[in-house]
Amino acid sequence: MKSIWRPSELETVNCEICGTKGCAENVVVRGDGLVVVRCQRCGLAYLSPRPKRQFIEKFYDSSYFSGQGSEIKVGYSREYYDTLQASIPQQLLQILHKFGLQNISGLEVLEVGCATGLTLSKFHQGGAHVLGIEPVEEAAKTARELFGLRVINSTFEDVPLECNKFDIIIALEVIEHLLSPKAFLEKCCRVLRPGGLIVISTPNYKATELFGSKWRGFHTSFEHLYFFDSHTLSRLAENCGFENPETVYQAAVQIPATPPIIRRALMLVPGVMQSARAVKRLWGRFITHKRQAGGVAHRLWVGLQKR
Ligand SMILES: [Zn+2]
Repeated sequence: MKSIWRPSELETVNCEICGTKGCAENVVVRGDGLVVVRCQRCGLAYLSPRPKRQFIEKFYDSSYFSGQGSEIKVGYSREYYDTLQASIPQQLLQILHKFGLQNISGLEVLEVGCATGLTLSKFHQGGAHVLGIEPVEEAAKTARELFGLRVINSTFEDVPLECNKFDIIIALEVIEHLLSPKAFLEKCCRVLRPGGLIVISTPNYKATELFGSKWRGFHTSFEHLYFFDSHTLSRLAENCGFENPETVYQAAVQIPATPPIIRRALMLVPGVMQSARAVKRLWGRFITHKRQAGGVAHRLWVGLQKR
């Protein structure tokens, strides 16, 4: 498959967990022509070679959140964006409960990549002191205007933060985008208080056991650089000062991609999308038990405590 990237725009990287070079086997060639490899020593899957920093940054302009970044498959789909409501995801609540956190009032909560603030606003309403960091300016602005949240428009690595400050850090669908998940987890560890909690969600690489190279994690978001399962994510976090990993799996139905024009046309027909979602929910419930038993579900949620 022909790459959309020029060789000069790409760089080869070592394994982020064990630092190994040249010990990775090819897993799949994605639609953008880039290769996902898997470290034969520790099992971490990642993109290598991958676009250099300056070329990756062009993914994340304002079109990322408007679903208009359609030249290549990147960004939020309009459908996803329109149907979300402010809420704390069930899996996030489950993890908080596993760590005995029932009441969030008065806690210091940081969300990295808070997007338009849908989740963080619920912590705010629950009495937590919240701070969001969001690199996409338009999304940060929406979070401030819609929910009155304190949101810094920047990347996490560029924001100076007090050490030992936060009780909870939330990073949903963030870690797979980062050039260095290790540097990210190390900084999270510094700014959490001892015993503080990080909750991460990310596509679950283990789903490749079911779907192989057709797994949607390889084909829906070309900006993803890392592909974790519970084992590799916990191991990397433990290397960075975390302990006591708790994992929750989230089933999602993988259905064949519908061309955007047909999806948009369907959305105009009253009730069609609602029915489709209801069918997906039911089917999701049906397959959940079987597939979660082996940890094979599309999304992975991991909570860890600072040592
Ligand atoms: Zn490795």
